[in-house]
Amino acid sequence: MEKDMKLLLHICCGPCSTYPVQELLKEGFEIQGLFYNPNIHPIEEHKRRKENVEKMSSITNIPVVYNDDFRQSEWENLEDKGAARCTGCYSLRMEEAARYASENGFEAYTTTLLVSPYQKHELIKELGEFYAEKYRVAFAYRDFRPGFRQGQQMAKEMGLYRQKYCGCILSLNG
Ligand code: SF4
Repeated sequence: MEKDMKLLLHICCGPCSTYPVQELLKEGFEIQGLFYNPNIHPIEEHKRRKENVEKMSSITNIPVVYNDDFRQSEWENLEDKGAARCTGCYSLRMEEAARYASENGFEAYTTTLLVSPYQKHELIKELGEFYAEKYRVAFAYRDFRPGFRQGQQMAKEMGLYRQKYCGCILSLNG
């Protein structure tokens, strides 16, 4: 990747954004965030995570675009399908990030989901690359997981809310 490349960072929540933002800035990227997570339920939690991304944005000066799409009923109608459920969830978000990046002049995109040891990392990488090809934009794959603990510590220092479940209503209920 070249320095000063415009990169769109899909942001799932404030705490997960801290380490990737730090590392991508070190690499010389010009970053803009995109908050797009229709999978976060219930609505109070969606608002709370969004507010904490706003807080991170004001502390780090990283601009973020917010898309308030919210789809609890879709997840309520899903049987618990394990990995298949998460494939759809990642796909929805990766496709929107790739589309937005492609249509708004970004050379590359990536996601803060790549920092979490609790997410399906290889699946996210695969889908990120798939949508990169579909929308003709580069996927800046990074394995941010070694910085997960550091990122959580940074989030604590910033006073960010750190949630205890992945996001969807099914993950909230167990
Ligand atoms: S567990 Fe997490 S990744 Fe899987 S469907 Fe729910 S919110 Fe999405």
